[in-house]
Amino acid sequence: MTGSYDLVVIGAGSGGVRAARMAATYGARVAIIEEFRVGGTCVIRGCVPKKLYVYASRFNELFDVAASFGWQVDASFDWPTLVANKEKEITRLEHAYTANLEKPGVEIIKDRAVVTGPNSVHLVGQDRDLDARYILVATGGHPYIPPIPGAELAITSNEAFDLPALPHSILIEGGGYIAVEFATIFAGLGVNTTIVYRGDCILRSFDDDMRRGLEAGLIDRGIKLIYQTTIKSLTRAGDDISATFSDGVTAPYGAVMFATGRAANTGGLGLEAAGVKLHSNGAVMVDAFSQSSVPSIYAVGDVTGRAALTPVAIREGWYFAETVFNNNPLAVDHSQIPTAVFSEPEIGVIGLTEGEAATHGDIDVYLARFRPMMNTLSSRTERMILKLITEKDGGKVLGCHILGPGAAEMIQLVAIPMGMGASKADFDRAMALHPSAAEELVTFKAPSYTYRDGKKIGG
Ligand code: NDP
Repeated sequence: MTGSYDLVVIGAGSGGVRAARMAATYGARVAIIEEFRVGGTCVIRGCVPKKLYVYASRFNELFDVAASFGWQVDASFDWPTLVANKEKEITRLEHAYTANLEKPGVEIIKDRAVVTGPNSVHLVGQDRDLDARYILVATGGHPYIPPIPGAELAITSNEAFDLPALPHSILIEGGGYIAVEFATIFAGLGVNTTIVYRGDCILRSFDDDMRRGLEAGLIDRGIKLIYQTTIKSLTRAGDDISATFSDGVTAPYGAVMFATGRAANTGGLGLEAAGVKLHSNGAVMVDAFSQSSVPSIYAVGDVTGRAALTPVAIREGWYFAETVFNNNPLAVDHSQIPTAVFSEPEIGVIGLTEGEAATHGDIDVYLARFRPMMNTLSSRTERMILKLITEKDGGKVLGCHILGPGAAEMIQLVAIPMGMGASKADFDRAMALHPSAAEELVTFKAPSYTYRDGKKIGG
């Protein structure tokens, strides 16, 4: 049995679902193939459950400061309740995504797909072939697991959400988004947490003040950081897992988690045999319009290795549909993407880091560090950091970096003026909103320090 479609989408995650819906809205006959659950990494085992768990972990600190506001709280935490409620919510979202596909007439096929040519896809389970005028690869990625002895004893973010019980302690390898987010989740829920990272400070590509600020925040929350070290092997030790590190030290942990990056889901997809060129890391090579080296095959989202972020995948899927099915060629601008790390404290950033900006011209740096008002009645001393980097003498805003409560929400809004090419004067024209943390961004007077000819002056 065969089926004939204008578009066959492989992968019902953020990018694939948006592309399928839009293409169907433009009149295309569309099938979307998914072997797991509709919703993809973001909904099922990424952004959505992660943010729910972040909320859960933050109660701990709220209870801490509650006393200084006159509250007495006698709290306890139940992991199975959180897991069950999370499951309810992602199932609701899965149904919403499914309904949104079905409404414009997208056919959902639950199976594993293999690309067998520029215009053909084989369904492995059903053992049948589909003809497709266009194929969109939106298969996402999977956690990369270092090939060390005993690696199978460790978990990844895929399993972390559904552990049968919280471990008494956890060792997390990696220094990126997932490592620091899960470290703060586990620590907030009372798990003795250690990060082991091969570099010398977490979040390698972030602004130094954000990195050092978060590092201090993690340490303040009791998270242990082991730098310039990797895990060499894992063995079972009773109920624990024993980790041997690159410096020869061995220590037991209740659980070990790899957060060592993610790799594109292109294995066994038949892409190379169909003529699709891949990068050396397995990601699909695409042009600005998400077209691969085979003209009828496109790819969007994490599988392309551009920016592994949900809103980027959604935009790529939408623009693909505009380009191919609405005669409206649109290329996604990947140059200015706001991003947040939902750690504790939280980070929100957009644009250039101080280090990057200083090597590209003369810049002014405006920096504020202060105790968030929420902490002022308590003994908490943690400071919020807001940094604005501009071209010299009140020119264009080049970067904004925020560490502290609400950083993600703030940076989403900062993305609007920055996308319009706003200058420091444009920020200054905005009336401050008091009392808020964000008002600092529009009340900076003189620069805290500057860079001229690459040299730091003042500060
Ligand atoms: P990241 O790329 O952010 O971090 C991976 C970390 O693992 C880095 O610290 C890296 O070190 C380290 N690493 C890589 N390979 C090895 C190895 N062989 N041995 C030891 N350490 C290693 O990946 P994540 O897995 O944290 O997240 C994947 C992507 O998902 C992110 O880049 C982001 O795009 C997205 N994401 C976004 C979130 C958000 O928006 N809040 C949340 C979670 C994920 P080094 O720094 O030296 O390279």
